[in-house]
Amino acid sequence: MGHVSIQDIKLEGDFQGTDFNLRVFRFGERRAGAPKIYMHAALHADETPGMLILHHLLPRLQAAAEAGQIPGEVVVLPQANPLGGAQVLFRDKHVGRFHLPNGENHNRGWALLTEDVIETIDAGLGADALANVALIRRVVGEALAAREPVTVLDRYRKAILGLCYDADMVWDLHCDDDSGRHLFIIPEQWPDWKDIAAASRSMVALTAADSGGGSFDECLSTVWTRLQARFPEHPIPLACPSATFEYAGWADVEDSVAAEDAQHLFSILCSRGFVNAEATPLPKLEAEGLPLEATEMLRISSPGIIVYHVRIGEQVRRGQHVADVVDPTVLDPAEARTPVLAGTDGFVLSRLMQKLVFPGDCVIKIVGREILEERKGGYLLQD
Ligand SMILES: [Zn+2]
Repeated sequence: MGHVSIQDIKLEGDFQGTDFNLRVFRFGERRAGAPKIYMHAALHADETPGMLILHHLLPRLQAAAEAGQIPGEVVVLPQANPLGGAQVLFRDKHVGRFHLPNGENHNRGWALLTEDVIETIDAGLGADALANVALIRRVVGEALAAREPVTVLDRYRKAILGLCYDADMVWDLHCDDDSGRHLFIIPEQWPDWKDIAAASRSMVALTAADSGGGSFDECLSTVWTRLQARFPEHPIPLACPSATFEYAGWADVEDSVAAEDAQHLFSILCSRGFVNAEATPLPKLEAEGLPLEATEMLRISSPGIIVYHVRIGEQVRRGQHVADVVDPTVLDPAEARTPVLAGTDGFVLSRLMQKLVFPGDCVIKIVGREILEERKGGYLLQD
């Protein structure tokens, strides 16, 4: 009989009586040299597609664990953010993206490597890649354990990182507004992650070495790329490739679709050696890897109602009239409309679902192929 465990991690709230509970499923056991994968959904707590996919994945993992098919450990948090989950305003307004007490985006500001940690690692690196991986994980883990969090948000982040800093792969399941499926990865993961792009039925894998916001997935994968760049004389593999999976949009939550998605992810677990079972066929790959610097975040400069003239997946040309912002307080119908023009050639990846829009809002993402000058080396995320 394989090992299945359920752990509830208590997170003390910032006010008496407001504790939170983080539920962790573990299939198999951590064993030296055996692979560990960590996955969670709903870091942005109101993004439900991933939660339903992991709900469908749990029984498969339980069966695999009970059949002794998990050589190492599979760690799953189907609802990874109880702090955000509890943020309901006035019955039907859920705020899962930001932490209400300080306005921080739940998927920004994650960090594992500090200068202190890097210096300690530097002192121990050698010529053996596996020994370097073990050293780096030990030092990062010790630094994490030594953190003294002050707020519940800090305690939460420490708890999450403690579950995944030593994983061999990390999956962070999200969704966009009204959107096609896509992945965010670092460039080093492409084309190796073509199978995972296919399994997640992604339209594109958007690559960035550093998108600038300290997103959770980059916090894991860039431990290794940053150390590679810093210490080129020592062999350091990309020991924890990680990704943000955007499973389409908020409204794309279907039981049968999520069950298929879970099957495809399970297939990857098999083909990648996290589960010793036969992989099932993946969907036909359509995605390619393209630089995130070539994706336009089309922003508007006037308030009103957004009306779109293009659909998700549609090809557009630079200068094409893709939407209007309608000001209902203007009498002349023509004057009431401010046209929104595409700034690049590409395809429409997502549209803002909320139709009441404000200056600065990103209303459409267009995936292009040419790096956009204004995006080069800048902050690449939506907010
Ligand atoms: Zn998200």
